[in-house]
Amino acid sequence: MKLDIPFPVREILRRLTLAGYEASVVGGCVRDSLLGLSPKDWDITTSAKPEEVKLVLSDLKLLEIGLKHGTVTALSGGMAVEITTYRIDGAYSDNRRPDSVCFTGSLTDDLSRRDFTVNAMAYSEQNGLVDCFGGREDLQQKILRCVGDPDRRFEEDALRILRGLRFCAVLGLSPDEKTARSMNTHRQLLDRIAKERISVELIKLLCGQNAAQILREFPQIIGQILPEILPMIGFEQHNPHHIYDVWEHTLHALDATPADPVLRLVILLHDSGKPHTFTTDQKGVGHFYGHGAVSVQLAEQALHRLRLDGKTVRRVSTLVRVHDIPLQPCAAWIRRRLNRMGEEDFRALLEIKRADSLAQNPAYRDRLNQIDAVLPILEQILSERQCFSRKELKVSGNDLIALGIPPGPKVGVLLKRLLDAVINGKIPNEKEALLNLAKQTLHETSG
Ligand code: ATP
Ligand code: MG
Repeated sequence: MKLDIPFPVREILRRLTLAGYEASVVGGCVRDSLLGLSPKDWDITTSAKPEEVKLVLSDLKLLEIGLKHGTVTALSGGMAVEITTYRIDGAYSDNRRPDSVCFTGSLTDDLSRRDFTVNAMAYSEQNGLVDCFGGREDLQQKILRCVGDPDRRFEEDALRILRGLRFCAVLGLSPDEKTARSMNTHRQLLDRIAKERISVELIKLLCGQNAAQILREFPQIIGQILPEILPMIGFEQHNPHHIYDVWEHTLHALDATPADPVLRLVILLHDSGKPHTFTTDQKGVGHFYGHGAVSVQLAEQALHRLRLDGKTVRRVSTLVRVHDIPLQPCAAWIRRRLNRMGEEDFRALLEIKRADSLAQNPAYRDRLNQIDAVLPILEQILSERQCFSRKELKVSGNDLIALGIPPGPKVGVLLKRLLDAVINGKIPNEKEALLNLAKQTLHETSG
């Protein structure tokens, strides 16, 4: 077996070996290579101490950010390669980070501190694959298994619970029974982990090909970091549009959503307000009036708590708010939406609606036709560069001032009226027509 290691990484391995040290690639890059995927980054593990690594690679640009954990980062051939000395992690008193690390001369020791068997393999040209814990076999069988005793490993570092589910969602693995049980019993330890680290894992998990299945199997773990989802589980809708309870509907919709962080967060939370707004009418049919607004509140609360960046929170919040608006396959309506939300969010809205419809009662799938009817009109608006915002409007504030309007808020109000007229198809986006309408409006308001 031979891994296809990029040249700069191979060079670093060769030079460390030439200097008399052991060096191999390790972890995610070995796992991904065995799966036939192309690794995002290549990590090296070596018997050389950090000072020795620095000496051997002294001609490269080196970063020392991870030095206290034994990591030197070398910048070479446009890549950042992390080179970490074989280490054993010390005691974990906070379920998060080892109190101390100590270096060791043994690759096996280094592999045994790693979280999962599939992540605990190393490879070098001299030794081939070093796989002390059966990672290759587990990868073939699609099993996620802790290195060592799961209870101990999750007590040491509870983030591993979420990392584990993330690897399952992304790579299509399933935890073995002991690992799964231990993940569940230790889930409360996740409360002690920094929210920033949780959200990184959560988003990767949500964007995995098997995200819905993992959420279905481990709702209590997800609920530990996102309690907002818990009331949805098993919540029956009593409505002919739906064949699933709120949570199952959400999971089916998630499966139908492109793997984008914002889209997947929107779908995960779009109906979270439903259990809080449920009513039944005289016929016993369930309704959820105003659930969108409650979902917005819950989504904002959840995403702030997870310290997601402002842009993500804003986009998720907007899309959850509008997820239920009826689509109108008409150019003026689409231009109005583009004006309010921009192209990126409008396209996202269509994706959300498609996923939402696909997870509803198939008898009401005609909503999909609505989306299909909107798309070509949208494409035409964009390709013709039709005007839907001030940027494209053929008159500016200065043009209006030249007509004699005093600079100030009036200019903005008038521009908005002109833009509305163009968006609604009342007048063409041409300077003459716009100025005529401006004069007429002025005349009316002054008269
Ligand atoms: P990714 O594809 O996300 O980079 P990865 O497996 O490379 O996945 P990293 O976070 O880059 O994950 O970590 C590199 C390696 O370090 C892992 O493969 C694993 O061997 C080890 N590792 C990372 N985090 C932990 C942890 N919390 N506990 C134990 N070992 C870990
Ligand atoms: Mg990695």
